[in-house]
Amino acid sequence: MNLPSKEKTGKKTKSKITTPFPSLQMGKRVVCPRCGNDWHFYEVAEDVMLTTRYIQNADGSFTPQSDESSILGEVKFFCGECNTDLTQFHNRLMEMLF
Ligand SMILES: [Zn+2]
Repeated sequence: MNLPSKEKTGKKTKSKITTPFPSLQMGKRVVCPRCGNDWHFYEVAEDVMLTTRYIQNADGSFTPQSDESSILGEVKFFCGECNTDLTQFHNRLMEMLF
C-alpha cells in the first residue's frame, strides 16, 4: 500500500531583496543631504534655444504661431534652501513631475 508522500521536495528559499538605494523606498522624496530640506528646489537650464514661429499677414503684420524651446546645455538641479547642487537627483524630478 502506497501512502501519498507529504514531503515537499524542492523547497524554495526566499532570498532577501536588497536595494542598493534604501532611500528610494522612503516615499521617493528627494532630501537635501546637506540641510535636510525636502520642499524647495530649483532647476537651472544653461543654454535654451527659444524658437517662435510667425505668420506674416496680408497687411505686413506678424502673428506668433507657436513657441518651441529646446535645452541645449546642461540642466542642473539645486536645493532651494542652501543651493547645494542636487543634479544627481534630477532624474527623480523628471520621473515625479506631474
Ligand atoms: Zn539644502
